[in-house]
Amino acid sequence: MYSLCPKKNMDNFINRDVLLLSISMGFKIILLGPPGSGKGTQAEKLNDDLGLIRLSTGDMLREAVRDKTELGKMAKEYMDKGALVPDNVVIGLMKERITSLKEGFVLDGFPRTVQQADALCEFVDVDHVINLDVDDEELVSRLTARRSCPDCNVVYHLLYKPPMKDDTCDKCGATLYHRSDDTETTVRARLKVYRDSTFPLIEYYEKKGILVNVDGKGNIQEIYEAIEDSL
Ligand SMILES: [Zn+2]
Repeated sequence: MYSLCPKKNMDNFINRDVLLLSISMGFKIILLGPPGSGKGTQAEKLNDDLGLIRLSTGDMLREAVRDKTELGKMAKEYMDKGALVPDNVVIGLMKERITSLKEGFVLDGFPRTVQQADALCEFVDVDHVINLDVDDEELVSRLTARRSCPDCNVVYHLLYKPPMKDDTCDKCGATLYHRSDDTETTVRARLKVYRDSTFPLIEYYEKKGILVNVDGKGNIQEIYEAIEDSL
């Protein structure tokens, strides 16, 4: 009689990494994290290592506008006026993209509100919501340490990517400046906005039982390993 269950012991020749890769390829993940948490970097790594497609609202909007899709044309009207693209357009784009995907994905920067999360669960079942946890003091010190070049737009970081000479661009020699949205007052205000809007979202996914908190302090590789372990 035909058996669906292979008799061979797979453990002998499949190691843990291969197993994790094959399981996680189809994962549908939401990555939450405040500005400065390194969320984008981790989404890139999930893409490189596990082949999960990184989906961000910004990229999706730009692609739809470039390809002149119906929703793209609608989005462009708002963007040209400098207005926020309304939820129904963003969610429509998300739906189009996600329902056409065969691979797993990681959502970076979406949803931002409970209403968006409700709309999302109408067309996709998310497996994991990873909340990168970094305290405000750490974020303030990370975010206020950025310095930008006014001429070639290179961004330096006094802790992670310092210029060779103080306040001077390595590439063009211009004097670096501190962007006004990187000052402590502005950073704290941005973090407050983030916390206020994300808190209900964290509760929402906690209730669904799919939220995992991952410590976002430490180096990129350590944080990435903690994310992998949580899957
Ligand atoms: Zn420069």
